[in-house]
Amino acid sequence: MKTIKVSVVTPDGPVYESDVEMVSTKAQSGELGILPGHIPMVAPLAIGVVRLKKNGKEQDLVAVSGGFLEVRPEQVTILAQAAEKAEDIDVERATRAKERAEQRLRESHQENIDFKRAELALQRAINRLTVTGRQ
Ligand code: ATP
Repeated sequence: MKTIKVSVVTPDGPVYESDVEMVSTKAQSGELGILPGHIPMVAPLAIGVVRLKKNGKEQDLVAVSGGFLEVRPEQVTILAQAAEKAEDIDVERATRAKERAEQRLRESHQENIDFKRAELALQRAINRLTVTGRQ
């Protein structure tokens, strides 16, 4: 089986690196699947899950909070604002973040709360919980 090298990098350093059979991500324009030999491209990413296929199965999941995907002939690079492998996600923290964001969204019509900001925080929290299988 042909493979392609994938790196997920954040401002804090590399988060994930492996040779995989397929990379599935959520670009801002929709779901994107990258196989070895994909044409070079750059795409902005949404808050979403990066799914990495190895040995015929989806083996690894990484939560990504937006950024960019760059595809080159031998390499996929994901430059993310924040990214966590499933095993590095603190479920309690994500649950607290989700509750906080939901509370802010409930209050946003009465107080001067930034609705978009709370909505993005909620998406990040739900995404993290999805990756750990808690959502
Ligand atoms: P919180 O309100 O809990 O900080 P957040 O969505 O605002 O959540 P970010 O700004 O996206 O957090 O991330 C800040 C840093 O904390 C990043 O390095 C990110 O990887 C890490 N991080 C955020 N939430 C979690 C979590 N639940 N488990 C592990 N790392 C996390």
